[in-house]
Amino acid sequence: MTRIERGSTVVEVVTGDITALEVDAMVNAANQSLSGGGGVDGAIHRAAGKAKLQDACRAIGGCPTCEARITEGFDLPARFVIHAVGPRWKDGNKGEEELLAGAYRSSFMLAEEHNAGSIAFPAISTGVYGFPKERAARIAARHCLTAAETGKFETIVLCCFSDGDAAIYASALTTEAQS
Ligand code: ADP
Repeated sequence: MTRIERGSTVVEVVTGDITALEVDAMVNAANQSLSGGGGVDGAIHRAAGKAKLQDACRAIGGCPTCEARITEGFDLPARFVIHAVGPRWKDGNKGEEELLAGAYRSSFMLAEEHNAGSIAFPAISTGVYGFPKERAARIAARHCLTAAETGKFETIVLCCFSDGDAAIYASALTTEAQS
């Protein structure tokens, strides 16, 4: 586990299942339809209670890439789920980096609006959406450190699903913290 402190905020990288984390807000790597899917999206929907979370998402209707929407967490330990829509990787020249950055920024904005002091992110866009992991990790790390500097969060967690991914995110966090 890698841990960086910025004022009163801790930013950390952990390996594990995000659905088990006791945080105020859990970020989901959602798709535009918010209708649930595979990967972390499926895991969050199952753990929250499929029908309940689906109904809440249906009421919202959808979410464009680069933005996020918030629902209750239902059966999850988290009070809120923030459904962030990262981009599908194409060739790197379709604004992918800025779109991923927007997904992180929107998530932090919603968390702040709802007074969520602790927040956990999965490695958005790096699964089925195919975003190169090192590049995604740098963007994630940069935005977590920027959010830490606002002093509005106690804990920001980057939750990776494998030790290999956690090593990539930890290295990006350390590098960004030094720059
Ligand atoms: P995307 O479509 O945004 O690429 P995926 O769900 O396919 O989303 O993958 C995003 C990341 O989430 C991947 O690194 C994947 O290994 C990870 N992941 C899958 N299940 C979980 C889980 N239960 N907890 C944390 N991370 C998960």
